[in-house]
Amino acid sequence: MNKSHHPHRGLLLMVVAPSGVGKTSLTRRLVSDHGDLHLSISATTRDPRPGEHDGRDYHFVSRDKFQGMLAEDAFLEWAEVYGNFYGSPKAPIMDALSRGESVLFDIDFQGAMKVHKQAGADSVLVYILPPSLAEMSRRLHTRSQDSEEVIHRRLSRAKDEVAAWEQFDYVILNDDFDRAYADLAHIYHAERLKRARNPWIGDLVSDLLKEEI
Ligand code: 5GP
Repeated sequence: MNKSHHPHRGLLLMVVAPSGVGKTSLTRRLVSDHGDLHLSISATTRDPRPGEHDGRDYHFVSRDKFQGMLAEDAFLEWAEVYGNFYGSPKAPIMDALSRGESVLFDIDFQGAMKVHKQAGADSVLVYILPPSLAEMSRRLHTRSQDSEEVIHRRLSRAKDEVAAWEQFDYVILNDDFDRAYADLAHIYHAERLKRARNPWIGDLVSDLLKEEI
């Protein structure tokens, strides 16, 4: 019996980490390795950074456009982060779930908690820990995309988030990319296999129980 032909209930996988912890590389690889997992592309009012593309990294929109989307109730959740607005458009998320597929969110702590409140057991919260704040600071300086002031704000915000680690279902330490990626992939695989996400198992079991022995 090929279980890939059986109905599956998708999940909302939220991966939260302070900036500079390698979250983007981990989540982009998970999505490219799994055809049934889609990245939720957020809308944001912040300017694109070098190398970022509209529609791939974010939908870069004006403040007016963002306000319009808010008025249309187009977001599953939204937040203001460092003075810019960010939101997760509802429509592509609902489309993926209706096909039994899953959605990965690369959003901040407040957004993840909002989605978790709405989606309950359909959401899985993962936090990625840096090995230390010193290492995180080093990575942010190497990336050199932010001013000293922004780096300082990101570090102090990271401290507040790390303190909330017990609100997450899983915590991954990213001191080694390959190991952290394997941990993330295992979490996704195990969550997909949960009985409640595979209603076809009930039918199979009732058929099995009808078999003569
Ligand atoms: P950045 O500007 O560095 O790309 O993102 C800043 C923060 O906003 C990150 O923590 C990122 O995960 C978060 N973020 C990105 N998109 C969304 C979104 O749609 N909703 C929320 N709540 N946070 C987001």
